[in-house]
Amino acid sequence: MPNPCVADRAVAVVGSGPAGFYTAAALLALPDPLIRVDLYERLPTPWGLVRAGVAPDHPKIKSISAQFTRTAGHERFRWLGNVEVGIDITREELLARYDAVVYCVGSPADRVLGIPGEDLPGTAAARDFVGWYNGHPDFRALTFDLAVRRAVVIGNGNVALDVARILSTPPDRLAATDIADHALEALRGSRIDDVLVIGRRGPAQASFTTPELRELADLTGADVVVDPRQLGPIGDDEHLPHGPRHNLEVLRRYATADHASSDRRITLRFLTSPVEIRGEGHVDSIVLGRNTLIDNGDGTTQAVDTGEREVVSAGLVLRAVGYRGVPILGVPFDARAGIVPNRDGRVEGGDREYVAGWIKRGPTGIIGTNGQCAADTVRTIVADLAAQPGPSRTPDPDSIETWLRQRQPELVDLEGWAAIDAAERRAGEPLGRPRVKLSTWDELLATARTVHV
Ligand code: FAD
Repeated sequence: MPNPCVADRAVAVVGSGPAGFYTAAALLALPDPLIRVDLYERLPTPWGLVRAGVAPDHPKIKSISAQFTRTAGHERFRWLGNVEVGIDITREELLARYDAVVYCVGSPADRVLGIPGEDLPGTAAARDFVGWYNGHPDFRALTFDLAVRRAVVIGNGNVALDVARILSTPPDRLAATDIADHALEALRGSRIDDVLVIGRRGPAQASFTTPELRELADLTGADVVVDPRQLGPIGDDEHLPHGPRHNLEVLRRYATADHASSDRRITLRFLTSPVEIRGEGHVDSIVLGRNTLIDNGDGTTQAVDTGEREVVSAGLVLRAVGYRGVPILGVPFDARAGIVPNRDGRVEGGDREYVAGWIKRGPTGIIGTNGQCAADTVRTIVADLAAQPGPSRTPDPDSIETWLRQRQPELVDLEGWAAIDAAERRAGEPLGRPRVKLSTWDELLATARTVHV
């Protein structure tokens, strides 16, 4: 690993997803003080959810990784992979070695529904399914029974649409993407031809973004079915903000489309909540409750149960109702909100500690949102550094590497990641795919190791 050049200050950034890379780039761009950035990552691979969350059939969105790769080439930057802060090394050890520590660890856990049957085999969090089809090594050992006809996806955000799309797209189309091989193989054997996506509120409250809603039919080739009675009179749309108004335009097009074209369908149903998941040893049905929307009088609305029930057969139930942050040992944490409490990115109750990205704001916003979020946090860091003049705490960058290799002998550096990246791309090339992902810890670490033999 080459020695980074001399700098005035040193900052540890923890987590190399979009927030971590945007934070690193903003710190490195400062003319004064000159900051050296060490970016820690628990996986042997960088880019966070850009690699492990963004759907494989969205390659343009993943191309943001080229910008992160340029940041990684900076002479004052190091990437230190396969090091989990809170497990392999502690917060206190980082604080002893850096002028500031920025946590950009995202929201890796999932929200639960709290309904009976949620733990039945055949039910899972979308997070697990997404991690599985994207080749995240933590989810490699999961299996999903796709030999069923109907899947129900609970949630009305873009993750619900991603999951519905992957379940409904002909595998030959997915074969041109970087979807994990084990997922592609399982999807080739899938019998799912009916995906029902439910949301507890109305179509105007759904948090889908319009391009994702619009592409649903094109990318899958499936019929997208919307009951026009759910949409209300067209005149009502005029009062809506831009996003929901455009969503309604798309939903109206789906509602009037001819549905004889495909052998697969995706049905979007609103004002519907899951009440109970049923089955003997495996999901076989889900009880749905019908809601009505009431106006709270303050510009917000609320879904209220009407008491009406319907039992729908289903062999797979995926809940896409949100992600959640998890605490890092010793770092303050707001368990209710699932974030690290902070003011302008400065951790409340922390010591030279900061946050950016989903762990700062909660799991909302697209990749770009984290750029502004990181810039705001870096402004706070700069102000705090100016208030504590003096030499950097970091005596010698080499000593950090020596210490890290003692703590994690399988440290993966940028060269190790380059070996993984090259191996994946090489495997993809003859197949016309961007890459074939390595998706077990063993494969990833063995490939990273090849640079040091
Ligand atoms: P993350 O991307 O989650 O990165 C956090 C990183 O921290 C990870 O690499 C993790 O391994 C690492 N980490 C965690 N804990 C530790 C630790 N203790 N020590 C060291 N490292 C740690 N946005 C779009 O613009 N377009 C899309 O198409 C899109 N699709 C999405 C699909 C899904 C399924 C999801 C969940 C999100 C999607 N998003 C999309 C949103 C986008 O991915 C997020 O806005 C963004 O990734 C959040 O960035 P982050 O850096 O805060 O978190």
